[in-house]
Amino acid sequence: MKPKLALFIVIAFSLTGCSHLHYGSSSGNASINEVKTALFFNNIIEGESPNIAQLNIFFSEMPKGGDLHHHYSGSIYVETYLDWAETNNQHIDTKTLKISNDKTDTTVTVNELRSDTALYRRLLTRWSDKDYSNHYHLELAPDTNFFNTFGYFGYVSGSYEQGLMVLKERAIKENVSYIETMIKSVGYSHSDTVFDENTKKNYDYKEISSLLDGQLSRIDGDASFKKKIDEFIKGIEKAHEGVSVDDDQFMMRYQTYASRNSTPSVVFSALYAAFKAVEKSELLVGVNFVGPENGVVAIEDYKLHMQFFAYLRKRFPGVNVALHAGELTLGMVRPKNLNFHISQALHVAGAQRIGHGVDLPYEEDAIDLLEEIKKNSVVEINLTSNEFILGVKGQEHPYLIYSVYDVPIVICTDDSGVSRNNLTREYVLLAARYKPSYKTVKKYAYNSIKYSFLSDVDQKTLIKSLDQRFEKFESEMAKYSDRIMK
Ligand SMILES: [Zn+2]
Repeated sequence: MKPKLALFIVIAFSLTGCSHLHYGSSSGNASINEVKTALFFNNIIEGESPNIAQLNIFFSEMPKGGDLHHHYSGSIYVETYLDWAETNNQHIDTKTLKISNDKTDTTVTVNELRSDTALYRRLLTRWSDKDYSNHYHLELAPDTNFFNTFGYFGYVSGSYEQGLMVLKERAIKENVSYIETMIKSVGYSHSDTVFDENTKKNYDYKEISSLLDGQLSRIDGDASFKKKIDEFIKGIEKAHEGVSVDDDQFMMRYQTYASRNSTPSVVFSALYAAFKAVEKSELLVGVNFVGPENGVVAIEDYKLHMQFFAYLRKRFPGVNVALHAGELTLGMVRPKNLNFHISQALHVAGAQRIGHGVDLPYEEDAIDLLEEIKKNSVVEINLTSNEFILGVKGQEHPYLIYSVYDVPIVICTDDSGVSRNNLTREYVLLAARYKPSYKTVKKYAYNSIKYSFLSDVDQKTLIKSLDQRFEKFESEMAKYSDRIMK
């Protein structure tokens, strides 16, 4: 080894703390490449103004494993939805900016919309978060703007085969090998006003579980329940297999969910259907819970909802659960509503992964809770989404707490179509803001497979592929840094 290179490696180790950097198969060359990559990474993030352009190259190329907090319909860009609306011969209402199946006095074709620049740009801001923070106009609250977007593209988002291919193509281009997407709900609900009334009286687990036993048999007696689940599974399988989503470069699995802002009977029946569907299909790997966590019903019924999860977890011990929890901050809700969401998701609902976890600093016994999350769960970090919806970023974001406490972390996109970002951008933000070591970002990429809901066999396959991808990436980065760091 040349003396200059030996010195360089010693410096790299001391700068990055990376004496155990390597995760996969090791060879002498790979280790040197890895150290050079770590040193280069350190070089581009140092100082007050990290080199964002270099970070964009670095993370576009870096294998990122999987994206575990990912909403299917929120991940497709507006322009793609407009292409689909055009193919379907649908129109756009110029007053409401919604899709219309009929031509009326106030509608235009997609092509006409594109040639009216002002109208087109206005639509982009309504169907996504585009331009929200870089110009001024009469704006809705950011969380309202965000959640409203689903009401626009919802009319056209059901082209699953096309959508899965769009997401796969983007993933492959940015070196993402797995997506675990929240695709849709089963579409079953059983409304029951007597049950709704009863749930208001009983919050003790024993009482609520006997109430839920009764509800379960009523739902089981509904002939449409099984039919809906079978149709739902068939639809997912048809889309997945129809376009051959899985191949040697990429894999996709699905979570289904219920919405948290409905009556107790509707939420419970939708959740029951979700658990049942996941139990029946290998492509469905987990249950989630969606909708604004600060919604009136979500706030009012949060503890009840966690009891629903506890009950269904007991009935379906093999079904995985990831929960949006603590996607809240001070000022958004009353302080008392910031005290327990993560804690209940973990302790009552048994969530294996926590989505967002932003309200951690406000939770009761936050330090004990941190220890328990570290032992029993994983936090899905969504930086862009948290900045837009909650206004939480930089030094206020609890990433700093989770990372220093060594809580298992995965880096995710949430709704990259609405946010107009991608997984690369999330890593760029992470690196520029918090300056983690290369060892740490590499660990996050591996975490995204390790903490996925994939089977052990599939995890092993993807870890092996990640080893090879990192070896190639580090070799390229070593050459690149040699050229520019002379
Ligand atoms: Zn989400």
